[in-house]
Amino acid sequence: MKFIADMMLGRLARWLRLYGYDTKYGIKDDDEIIETAKKEGRIILSRDLELVERAKKLGIKAIFIESNSIEGQIAQLMRLGIEFNELFPEGARCPKCNGIIVRVSKEEVKGKVPEKVYESYDEFYVCTNCGQIYWPGRQWEEMVKMDKKFRTNKP
Ligand SMILES: [Zn+2]
Repeated sequence: MKFIADMMLGRLARWLRLYGYDTKYGIKDDDEIIETAKKEGRIILSRDLELVERAKKLGIKAIFIESNSIEGQIAQLMRLGIEFNELFPEGARCPKCNGIIVRVSKEEVKGKVPEKVYESYDEFYVCTNCGQIYWPGRQWEEMVKMDKKFRTNKP
């Protein structure tokens, strides 16, 4: 299942990537969003009802996202039966660029992360597209907390 999110849904797009979903984001033009969805078989996610209706008329799958909050948005997608497996770095995509994240050895990130980080962690991941390095630090802990919150909100 692949998605394309409109410009209103940057946060949702980043979360979908973290959950491993191939999610395109950053296209402003409605026609281009529809074209891309059609060409690449993506489901459109949008806060714009007009865009959603237009896409549906063309036979393209589109979901009108009802809530403004990330909690509400994830809850809606869960209600629709979209699976959210527990956050796990190996299955995640890069929240920045949608690239695939792979685990790398500690030696590979030497000199590329702050020394304190290098000393404190043994687990490192890198985005194969943009090169961003990730490790299970405070930011990751915050995301895991959010993930738990999404699950308890589950209707
Ligand atoms: Zn990336």
